[in-house]
Amino acid sequence: MGPEADTLRLQRALRDLVALSTVPAAWVGREPPAIAAGLADVLVSSLYLDFAFVRLCDPDGGATVEIARGNAWRAFPEWLRQYFTANDRLSRRQIVRDIGGGKQGGRGIVIPVGVDAEGGLVAAACDRADFPSEIDQLLLSVAANHAATAFRMARLVQDHRRAEEALRESERQLRRARDELETKVAERTTELQRSEAYLAAAQRLSHAGSFGWDVSSGKLYWSEETFRIFECDRADQPTVDLALQRTHPYDRARVQQTLDRATQDRKGLDFEYRLLMPDGKIKNIHIVGHPVFDESGDFVEFVGTVMDVTERRRAEEERQALAHASRVATMGQLTASIAHEVSQPIAATVTNAQAALRWLGADPPDLEEVREALDRIVKDGRRAGDVIGRIRALVEKSPARKADLEINEAILEVTALLHGEVVKHGVSMQTRLAEGLPLIHGDRVQLQQVILNLIINAIEAVRGVSEGTRELLVSTEQASGDGVLVAVRDSGPGLDPAKLEWLFEAFYTTKPGGLGMGLSICRSIIEAHRGRLWASANTPRGAIFQFALPRHAMEVQPEQPLPAVAITAGPVGG
Ligand code: ADP
Repeated sequence: MGPEADTLRLQRALRDLVALSTVPAAWVGREPPAIAAGLADVLVSSLYLDFAFVRLCDPDGGATVEIARGNAWRAFPEWLRQYFTANDRLSRRQIVRDIGGGKQGGRGIVIPVGVDAEGGLVAAACDRADFPSEIDQLLLSVAANHAATAFRMARLVQDHRRAEEALRESERQLRRARDELETKVAERTTELQRSEAYLAAAQRLSHAGSFGWDVSSGKLYWSEETFRIFECDRADQPTVDLALQRTHPYDRARVQQTLDRATQDRKGLDFEYRLLMPDGKIKNIHIVGHPVFDESGDFVEFVGTVMDVTERRRAEEERQALAHASRVATMGQLTASIAHEVSQPIAATVTNAQAALRWLGADPPDLEEVREALDRIVKDGRRAGDVIGRIRALVEKSPARKADLEINEAILEVTALLHGEVVKHGVSMQTRLAEGLPLIHGDRVQLQQVILNLIINAIEAVRGVSEGTRELLVSTEQASGDGVLVAVRDSGPGLDPAKLEWLFEAFYTTKPGGLGMGLSICRSIIEAHRGRLWASANTPRGAIFQFALPRHAMEVQPEQPLPAVAITAGPVGG
């Protein structure tokens, strides 16, 4: 071959190389199948090869792309297939001469892409006698490398896109989750705000605030209503000292003691005391708290309620004052009969004393008779003393006193006082008292007032009837749920069924000169003892007034109710 032919060959090779080097630019952003097809097309159309086969593999396990172009002899692809069946990997380029044999036989070449053809391979065939010349091999290698690079790039781009898409998708999911969360938070916040508002309103309406007390740090938490009750600024940090400053000086030592005991014992708090406000007003508050422990059983804090019970105490006092006035009035009515109850044993004492004097004056003095007379004097003296004691208890103005009491005993004391009254009006009063009744925790004087009122009403009722016997029966029995039932039955004119509930209204009376307060006071006393008082018809005639009381008739308050009125206020202390 002459130098001209060489130059020509080189020129063509250069042209082909330039043609090949422009191809990768067209591959940018293309998908792997387009790259493989593009390469096969270039080999067939620009390098004038008869057949081209391109296989591009994804070393990361992605899909393999295979493209064949040109009108090759069928023998070459067959050879390729056989070759791959026999050899797992193509490690070096292979030149196949005389494909198919005979005249038609062309020549082929297979070039691995990447080490051990892990990037795939490029195979080409041509019937040119010098194929594959060195230049052909060079061009094919360049083309294969370009394709491999483009393919890898495409994969990278694809991965990148996929990663971007995955990122976008997870962003979308995150956004969705965040939106959902925000909606939920907003809903919960609204709910919480609403329930907080309800709670604050409920606390305002019930005059009950709440508190939390972390004893170890001394920190207090107060609800809005608690701030209002203590009349403190919401900006102030509530402390035990602040609470003590607000405490009435007379109660301060007791409150301090109660708190000290609570911190030591870590048991529930339940106490009542007075606050003294800067303007001199006094408030009664009731504190109930219980200790909170964590999972390991360690004490955490006290939580509880602060109730402003000033109004309740005031009403209670008013009720007590009214009940007292009514009691005094009733006792006033009974003066004549009670005087008889007292004068009887006194008269008997005088008689016995005179008899004793006579026995002493005898000769010899009969000391045995004297002793008996003196015994009777002592008994009568005690009887008179007892009557006076009971009258005093009923008339005395004393604060509510709660104790375990036997209801039968309380009834018998009242019936004893009314004995004279009963006799005076020709009434037959019977008692039928059940044995083994539970003790009632309540106020003896108040409950006796109820019994007294019911019996006096019954006496007044039977007094009005001219025919039949004037009968009265006071009975007790065990009530359901560990309580007692007390009934006063009479044979009076009975009750108008349409007016049954009116009887208990204040100022309802059918008696000339009646006040109409008796039954209303009785009902409020029984209700304060968590009981029930009602009226019904007696058979064959008359009325029954009965009340039921539970065993624990009165809330167990650790301290006596305290006066709520400011006049009793002591000096304001800090
Ligand atoms: P007062 O005795 O001053 O009238 P109460 O409140 O004790 O006031 O009684 C209200 C009214 O109930 C009485 O006026 C009477 O009409 C009626 N009442 C009370 N007890 C009886 C009874 N045992 N039988 C018939 N009516 C009664």
